[in-house]
Amino acid sequence: MASRKKSSHAWVYVIWGINGAALIAVLIIAVLYTTSLRASAADGTLSTPRPGETRNIPPTSYFLPTLTPNPFYTPPVFETSTPFELPKGLRPSIIGFSLAARPIELYTFGAGEKEYLIVAGIHGGYEGNTIALANELITYINEKPDTVPTDVTLYIIRNMNPDAEARDNGVDGRVNNNGVDLNRNFPSDNWTADWDRDGCWIYRPTTGGAYGGSEPETRSIMSFIGSRKIKAMISYHSAALGVFPGGVPWEEPSKRLASALSKVTGYAYPPIDTGCVYTGTLADWAVEHGVGASVDMELSDHKNIDFAQNLKALKVLLNFQP
Ligand SMILES: [Zn+2]
Repeated sequence: MASRKKSSHAWVYVIWGINGAALIAVLIIAVLYTTSLRASAADGTLSTPRPGETRNIPPTSYFLPTLTPNPFYTPPVFETSTPFELPKGLRPSIIGFSLAARPIELYTFGAGEKEYLIVAGIHGGYEGNTIALANELITYINEKPDTVPTDVTLYIIRNMNPDAEARDNGVDGRVNNNGVDLNRNFPSDNWTADWDRDGCWIYRPTTGGAYGGSEPETRSIMSFIGSRKIKAMISYHSAALGVFPGGVPWEEPSKRLASALSKVTGYAYPPIDTGCVYTGTLADWAVEHGVGASVDMELSDHKNIDFAQNLKALKVLLNFQP
């Protein structure tokens, strides 16, 4: 019994010995394997490339969102009915953006100390011939820079209401994208949201805005004028009513400018009185905020640009002393 017991003990030691050796062998293999993995990973990504070699960075995976287009998003379209670009030379600067993010462009001619301003297109495509006139004036002065005296800087904002111009060339193209009449939106002393329509434009509903200066197009012009010292300005309209001086009541320098412009253009001054009371206009706000003289001037119809007359008007403007 004793010897049998002894031999069975010996087997237990042998078996446990083999187990222990196998475990140690497995551990050694495991350690060697992971070390070799790290080494090969280092070979693959961290080795310094030799000169001229291209390093390939292994792709990193992130959980990127899927780029599915928003079905409710309409990309803005910047086409206008009168695309305008000078063939060579002068590029416009941008003084602001319309509600639909169309740029409001400013052309600057000359670098003299006397500053003058022309604004066209405040009533959009409905008065699109004012924009066409501004384009022609810009093209003409670009070709004949001597038109602007050396002591003068002339600014031309060719289209103050580009969304309306893009929308329509008729009565639907007058107000901005909020339905606001921009020439009723300036925060002049007499601004009102609504007005008596007797003798006024009545073809579509419109307002003067939520408050004076509520519209981005209006604020673009306000901040531009506020940053300059404008001696005199013309805000172009159509059609047929004549030349309206700025100010309530009309201010003397603006009346002198209106009279001088009327003489060379043949546009009526005093303007035709339809009984309409104009509130919140650019011309009124301008003279209340430091512009020496300003007028609303109407072309003779909704089609023609009356170029010859308005070239004479430009000379009057550029020599005007308020
Ligand atoms: Zn107008």
